[in-house]
Amino acid sequence: MTDRVFPPRPTPLIPVVGGGAYPVARIFCVGRNYADHAAEMGHEVDREAPFYFTKSAHTVLLSGQEMPYPSRTSDLHHEMELVVAIGAHAQDVPIAVAMDTVFGFGCGLDMTRRDLQAAAKAKRRPWDTGKDFDNAAVIGPITPTGGLDDIGELPIKLTVNGETRQQALLSDMVWSVPEIIADLSTLYTLMPGDLIMTGTPAGVGPVVKGDALRGTIGDFAVVETRIT
Ligand code: MG
Repeated sequence: MTDRVFPPRPTPLIPVVGGGAYPVARIFCVGRNYADHAAEMGHEVDREAPFYFTKSAHTVLLSGQEMPYPSRTSDLHHEMELVVAIGAHAQDVPIAVAMDTVFGFGCGLDMTRRDLQAAAKAKRRPWDTGKDFDNAAVIGPITPTGGLDDIGELPIKLTVNGETRQQALLSDMVWSVPEIIADLSTLYTLMPGDLIMTGTPAGVGPVVKGDALRGTIGDFAVVETRIT
């Protein structure tokens, strides 16, 4: 075998509640999946189909670690989201059996350089520099589905320095988890290691150095970071 000319970067590992680690391969993100967030961004939800963007697996920042304020922005925003961890090969999966492909759930922060994203939108350019940057996916521990009841009605919440900024129910999502998996699996062959960030409710806003962010879904999922 040909020698590698440099050592490969380590695969990001997310702690699994109950033991073990989930190796991350890809991160898919759903855009505008809560009507009130779409409205606050000046859009209507496209009820024809969800849409997606991606973040590199190497943008993962584990919950509990500090997030250095990123470069080239003065408008870093929080977006609190349910994270779905895929645990099976999934291609053209019917909605009715889509949940069988889920390994577990957690929550995460889709951190966004909003000023760069807005500039890209204005020029009809891709969102990558606004979304896919160092430490931009803050991810909490993943709980396997076997340890969970139906999470559909649970509250999703984010506080900054103890003050509530985002609050909704997972049932407010325009596209449900099985609908997202079914649709995404027609675009990509989903595999274990693929995470889906399922969109954020209203209340997104800027954070500054020193801010402490804490997101929760019900009482099973937590994600935390501090901006430094
Ligand atoms: Mg988002």
